[in-house]
Amino acid sequence: MSTPIYWLGNIEENRIWIKREDLLPFSFGGNKARKAELFMREIKNGGYDCVVTYGTSSSNHCRVISNLCVSHGLPCYVISPSEKSDPTYNSVMTALFKAQTTTVPAQEVHDTIENKMRELEKSGYRPYFIEGGGHGKLGTEAYVQCYEEIKEYEIEKGIRFDYIFLASGTGTTQAGLVCGQLADGAKRQVIGISIARRNPRGREVVLDCVRSYFAALGQRISEKRLQEAVVFIDDYINGGYGLDSVKIRETIEWVLKTYGIPLDATYTGKSFYGMTEYIRQRCVRDRNILFLHTGGTPLFFDALKNAERYRREGVI
Ligand SMILES: *Cc1c(COP(=O)(O)O)cnc(C)c1O
Repeated sequence: MSTPIYWLGNIEENRIWIKREDLLPFSFGGNKARKAELFMREIKNGGYDCVVTYGTSSSNHCRVISNLCVSHGLPCYVISPSEKSDPTYNSVMTALFKAQTTTVPAQEVHDTIENKMRELEKSGYRPYFIEGGGHGKLGTEAYVQCYEEIKEYEIEKGIRFDYIFLASGTGTTQAGLVCGQLADGAKRQVIGISIARRNPRGREVVLDCVRSYFAALGQRISEKRLQEAVVFIDDYINGGYGLDSVKIRETIEWVLKTYGIPLDATYTGKSFYGMTEYIRQRCVRDRNILFLHTGGTPLFFDALKNAERYRREGVI
């Protein structure tokens, strides 16, 4: 699977391209679909017969994994933290795909997962566990492969991206791109725009993920290069996971009107807004910039519906 890169336009005298991970062909695409392909390969090779995973009701991950499971006839168990939120298109689809969701207070999630795994094993199943958001080695590997696609595009077109911007959540997607970059030594900066986590923890998680990827390959990367390569910006969180703002809603509307591309309020709208602010505030000029559209298209429709409600209620 590979996704197209398109020329977008100029922002503050920079040249912007977009890589459309949202156009991956399975279950509305997105980075969870790219990661899921590798999980499925391991599930098949390992002879697993059901899947246990974790995520919130708005999770793209749970939608993609439960879709994959139902299409392969595998039972799927989702552990969700209880939260005050309305159903989203993702949660409606996760239910449609017959995932069996157990909702527990956030602090009980860990034990509930362990119990579910043990219970399934006792009943003679061979459950496969996927971390929330597809975090971990396979998720990282998926984005090392994505980085290779970016390099191929550069060679074909004779250009080099000075920056790659993306939404960073668990940090796995960012870690994969950084691993690709460290392996090839290209002079560029991958910039993760945090959608929820704060520093220093947010950045530490990306660093750990990069370290363990190279450790598993038996390679050592100097601490100096590692520190330089991981940029995790927590300036545009807007209060936390899933919380948007007028600025983010305006960005989503502008990108849709100008380029006909859907962004959502939790991930891509936040990171696109973060990218434009980063460029403006740090006076980035005359550079080639790639924005990684990490997907989340069902959340675009949630954002659209919410924006309409805000307008009706006079919030905007
Ligand atoms: C999960 C997700 C992210 C964050 O990916 P991580 O690998 O967890 O950092 C970004 N964008 C979208 C649309 C997502 O669904």
